[in-house]
Amino acid sequence: MDNQQLLALTEKYGSPLYVYDANIIESQYHRMVNAFSSVKSLNINYAVKANSNINILKVLKNLDAGVDCVSIQEVLLAIEAGFEVNKIFFTPSGISIEEMEKATALGVQITLDSLSVTQKFGEKHPNIPICLRINPHVMAGGNHKISVGHIDSKFGISIHQIEDVKKIISETGLKVIGIHMHTGSDIYNIEAFLTATEILLNTVKEFDTIEFVDFGSGFKVPYKEGDIETNIEEMGETLSKRFNDFCTEYGRDLTLIFEPGKFLVSAAGCLLVKVNVVKPTPNIVFIGVDSGLNHLLRPMMYDSYHHITNISNPEGKEKIYDIVGYICENDTFGSNRSISKISENDILCIHNAGAYSFSMASNYNSRYRPAEVMVYNGEDYLIRKRETFEDLLKNQVIIDL
Ligand SMILES: *Cc1c(COP(=O)(O)O)cnc(C)c1O
Repeated sequence: MDNQQLLALTEKYGSPLYVYDANIIESQYHRMVNAFSSVKSLNINYAVKANSNINILKVLKNLDAGVDCVSIQEVLLAIEAGFEVNKIFFTPSGISIEEMEKATALGVQITLDSLSVTQKFGEKHPNIPICLRINPHVMAGGNHKISVGHIDSKFGISIHQIEDVKKIISETGLKVIGIHMHTGSDIYNIEAFLTATEILLNTVKEFDTIEFVDFGSGFKVPYKEGDIETNIEEMGETLSKRFNDFCTEYGRDLTLIFEPGKFLVSAAGCLLVKVNVVKPTPNIVFIGVDSGLNHLLRPMMYDSYHHITNISNPEGKEKIYDIVGYICENDTFGSNRSISKISENDILCIHNAGAYSFSMASNYNSRYRPAEVMVYNGEDYLIRKRETFEDLLKNQVIIDL
């Protein structure tokens, strides 16, 4: 979308505003499918937590994607969006057995990620086929908070505990039909990923009832020019070949699953904000905008870089700014940025805000969460209304004091 189109959207729907280009989601999906085209059976399960708007889910459903859910509420949203239960995979971490049972009652494929829950689940429901999440203990991923496959990570069952799992499986009679791993976000090192792959495939060999192998996700997307990106085409070629050979060795055609979130939706979205104040100080010119960590937490939580442009004055002379939010904490969207000259009331575009952006938004400082708009084949659609004062009061119980 060009600057004029984005400006027109803020005039129509106000600011701050999340905008998603559904055609980019489609092209990312096709890129991924094409990269693995030599695999006989491939499922791309979109990780709902990246962006759970029902309309985004519907776009993916129409592409024949599946979904990866990490809470029973995400499962319900996926059903609401029209996904068949056989397309819904439930891969939570550390949840109660009751929540697992709710998911299996709906007919959803579950993944178990601890010895204790596997034991309890197996004793009660030996006839429900399960998938196991293993932890390959391979360090991958950028930020420590999102690197989840390393030795001290809480996720999955350690590969050093495979004998214990096998004992539980044979004692309870549980059937393991899938093996899963998710090593974390921001994988750019294909070698590290392939090392984890070998560990995963070795685990598959420990069971003779496997039907699918789930490689999780963690594909890195570029956040700024010159950024490294997972080379999906190269990875697709290498991994597909390894996977196909493995199927021959295993003696059965297995389904290969990926669970991308960021890769599918990150670049499709942006957050449009309005400049409230231009504030020169002795060393820094601060640009205060009508948004903050309540709407986009990634820069503060993960130190992530989001490219910022001034769409009201794209040809202006570049100056150095710190772009900050209006929350009463340090909420800097970007510091020391060279951006074309900014004036009050200009609209800034914060790029790559399709994933882990609105879905992590809150009402901190009692601010409303923004509206969301989806652009699809040239038409724009409001897909979430801006909140109002009623939303802040909705679940508060006012007692008579
Ligand atoms: C978050 C998550 C994903 C998606 O990760 P991305 O980095 O957004 O692709 C996939 N699988 C599981 C189990 C997850 O928790």
